[in-house]
Order: sequence, then structure tokens, then C-alpha cells
Amino acid sequence: MTTTTSGTQTITHFINGSETAGSGDRSQPVYNPATGQISGELRLAGQADIQSVVAAARAAADGWGQTSLSRRTAVLFKFRELVASHIDELAATITAEHGKVLSDAKGEIGRGLEVVEFACGISQLLKGEYSDQASTGIDVYSFREPLGVVAGITPFNFPVMVPLWMAPVAIAVGNAFILKPSERDPSASMLLAELWKQAGLPDGVFSVLHGDKEAVDGLLTHPDVDAISFVGSTPVAKYIHETATAHGKRVQALGGAKNHAVIMPDADLDNAADHLAAAAFGSAGQRCMAISVAVAVGEAADLVVQKVQDRANAVTVAEGTVAGADMGPVITPASKSRIVKIVTEAENDGAALVVDGRELVVKGNEEGFFVGPTVLDKVRTGMSAYSEEIFGPVLVVVRVDTLEEAIALINANPYGNGTAIFTSSGAYARTFQRAIHVGMVGVNVPLPVPVAYHSFGGWKNSLFGDLHVYGPDGVKFYTRGKVITQRWPEPSHESLASYNFPSS
Ligand code: NAD
Repeated sequence: MTTTTSGTQTITHFINGSETAGSGDRSQPVYNPATGQISGELRLAGQADIQSVVAAARAAADGWGQTSLSRRTAVLFKFRELVASHIDELAATITAEHGKVLSDAKGEIGRGLEVVEFACGISQLLKGEYSDQASTGIDVYSFREPLGVVAGITPFNFPVMVPLWMAPVAIAVGNAFILKPSERDPSASMLLAELWKQAGLPDGVFSVLHGDKEAVDGLLTHPDVDAISFVGSTPVAKYIHETATAHGKRVQALGGAKNHAVIMPDADLDNAADHLAAAAFGSAGQRCMAISVAVAVGEAADLVVQKVQDRANAVTVAEGTVAGADMGPVITPASKSRIVKIVTEAENDGAALVVDGRELVVKGNEEGFFVGPTVLDKVRTGMSAYSEEIFGPVLVVVRVDTLEEAIALINANPYGNGTAIFTSSGAYARTFQRAIHVGMVGVNVPLPVPVAYHSFGGWKNSLFGDLHVYGPDGVKFYTRGKVITQRWPEPSHESLASYNFPSS
């Protein structure tokens, strides 16, 4: 990173263990969304940069894959300590470019650290399986080997956590990893690269390539890239999956979401309203697991809407560095305009605008990209507020009469990332859990993001590919199986060669 004469940072790539401006001739500004000011200039990769990052990763991959498990794990342990001791610096970098409040930025780093800790124990998951005397004098054993070079393409909303969903596992099992972070908040990935280097990771094993579609397409089609992990919006996830699989790569592409929370009349409605507000407005609603639809069942509706309204009105919206702020800005002016447009359409289509955040101005941050908490009641499925992923601080309430109606509504939605039910009935919870077509389900837990030793992934348009990220699925994704069938005949042993298929 270098500082220009105007005081902004030039954000460069990290290739083969060093920062480099690369040879691309394009760059684009990075903003602080809370002030609306340009904070940096990001170098965008050109073709030569794509070639050089993949060549460095390829050259590093074999040596790293052959490095002993104990040495690889030692790097992971060191990296864990370095991330933990740089949490303030990482959080400040996230807040400056993403806008989320500092405590929330620290929270995302904490969830990323869990995956690093999981990867510290990778040897337990790479032990393989052994069958003694599978046939007479024959033993069979199987284990998993790294793929080689893998790339991760990540979204703006978790600039540390999502790269840490991927890289620690990919690296621990012996791959070289290329990160293509979001152009909107790229600086945290540079700090991660520096920490990997300090942890003793050999050059080329972790690289950062900044860029847009050109960089992504270069990775998707490069013959020396073996696998692609992607997290982002559904149309791009679908494109990534189609393009990279057509180029012979293993792909996991996580897409967008529309997460529903069902509120049963028997739920503790104060508790439900607290969680709904936090899950809808935290991080300005820019979480893939944010609750964006409350499905209020029967007589729960009037009460829960009133309680959520009270909580929405009490949210402190401010720059993320302000002590006591609950929620910061959204990422871009375009994002703000999209959110405002969808809320206006819903109002025009007959939804009840219970809390209106469209006109919110934060004193001292008049140029920031702020939208206040917004609650839309009596929304119907035909409205854009229901059918589109708003990705802003907007909670949509849909009213239904029964749990069965709620389940049918959610199952008809094209997304299937996360969902939750608030109830005091185990029977309702069990019916819901078993009937729902969604990958991650919370029971009185609004954001059921799995811990690092389970895997994270949605269904339907929220995931293209078979395997979820991190946890056991992450280990499978970044490795391939090898099975050895061995016989060690005694020198005097008669030959057992046969023209028939062996059966002993
Ligand atoms: P995005 O799809 O715009 O961008 C994601 C990545 O793809 C970025 O690195 C970007 O540079 C790249 N990209 C964008 N357009 C591209 C194109 N046409 N061709 C090739 N590459 C392209 O997503 P975003 O706005 O950064 O992030 C928000 C989205 O991510 C939301 O839809 C959210 O639900 C989703 N998300 C999903 C999960 C999940 O776990 N399912 C997690 C976080 C975010």
C-alpha cells in the first residue's frame, strides 16, 4: 500500500510474497461509505497480473503440499495468534471501507478465527482410512491429497470472515490459495496477506489479486487453477459455477438470500422482536444470513409489528467508529437508491410503511450512504420488496394464518440460505425443521451461522455446487481422494496372478 499526494492509499496486489502494483492499466476508487469520501485507489489486475499470480501459486503449491502436516499446522497456529492480536487494526480497516460498526467488525473477525482454529486441528481430518487384510494378503487404505491451486472470490459484506471461511482450510490441507476480494473493501485482505507472511507461510501460498470481472474471468478459465470458491450474489454465483465447471474446475458458488423468520403466537414476542430487529438491521441488513422477512403467524402479527417498530425507532445509526452505534451506512449510493426504490414501490403497492428510514440524515455525515431501519407490514409475495434481495436495513412482514402456510411460503421462495422459527413449542419447531427446504435452520436463533466444525451452505439459488464451505465439507472440497491397494508377497510366495477377476 502506498500513499498518494492527495493522502489516499493506493491498494496494490500481493503476489509471491510481496506487494506489487502489477501491470494492469486500470484502477478504481474505494470509498468510506460513512463519509462518502474516497479513501483509496485500487489497482485492478490485467492479464499479465493474472498470469503472474497463478504462476507464483503453481510454483508454491507442490512444495507446500509436500510440507509435513506438523509444519503446516505450526503456521496455522501462528496465524491464529497474529489475527487475534491484530483484531483492532483489522476491525478498523473493515469499518473504514465497509461501514459496519467496530463491534460488528470484531464479531466477523471472531467468526473467521473459529475457522482458523478448526484448521489448526486439520491433521485429525486427514488421517484417512485403513482396511487390514481386505483380501488375502492385501490391505487397502485411502487418504486425501490437496488439489493444487485454488481461488476464492469474495463479496463486500464480510471482507475478513468470508476469506477466512476458505483460505485456512485450503492452505491447511496443502493448497496454494489466491484471494480475489471485493473491489469495495479490499484493504483488509492485504493485512491478512501480511499476517500469513509473518506466520511463516512460504511466498506464493497466499496471494491477493484485486480486480473486477476481468480478474475473475482470468481465474475461472486459467488451466492452472484447480478449484473456485465463490461467495456473492446469485446471478454472479450461477455464472461462476457455469463458467468454471465448463473449464474443468471444482466449484462451490454461494449466492444471495431471502431469509424468513417465522413468529408463532406462542413465542416470547419480546425476545423474538429483539432478535428480529438485531438480525434485520445489524450491519445495515447487509448480511447473507440477515432476517429480511418476518412471517407473522395468526395473532402474533399485530403485537410483533408493534414491538419491532419500537426497536427500529431505537436503533442508533452512525458512523461505525462512533461509540454506541448500532448500525452504519450501506455500501454505495447505488445500493441506497436501490433500497429506497424498493421501499417506495412496496408503499405504492399497498404495503404499510410502519418505520420509514428513506430520508435519514446522520448529522456530521451528510454525505454518507445512510438508510435508516425500515419496517414494511402487510407485504405480499408479488411485491418487489418480497421477491428481491434488498440487502439493506429493511424488514418485510408477511402475515399468514398457520405454520403450514408459513412453511409453504418459505419453500416456494427461490432462495434457501437461512431461516428461523420463534416458538415455545418443540412440536412446532420439529415440524418446521423437518419440512423446510433451507440449508441452515435456527430454532429461537435468528442467524443460524454454523460453528466452524459444521459446514455453512444454503439450498436452491443460495448455493451452486455440492459442498458447503468450511468444516468437514471444506476439507472435502479442497482435497481429492486416493485409494491404495497393496500386497507385499513373500519372495517364495506362489504367484496369485489370475485371468479372472480376483475374489479372494
Ligand atoms: P457480488 O456478486 O456483486 O460480488 C461478489 C464477487 O464477485 C466480488 O469479488 C466481485 O468482484 C465479483 N463479481 C461481481 N460481478 C461479477 C461479474 N459480472 N463477473 C465476475 N465476477 C463478478 O456480491 P456483493 O455485492 O459483493 O455481495 C453481496 C451479495 O453476496 C449478496 O447477494 C449476499 O447475499 C451474497 N452473500 C452470500 C453469502 C452466502 O453465504 N450465501 C455470504 C455473503 C454474501
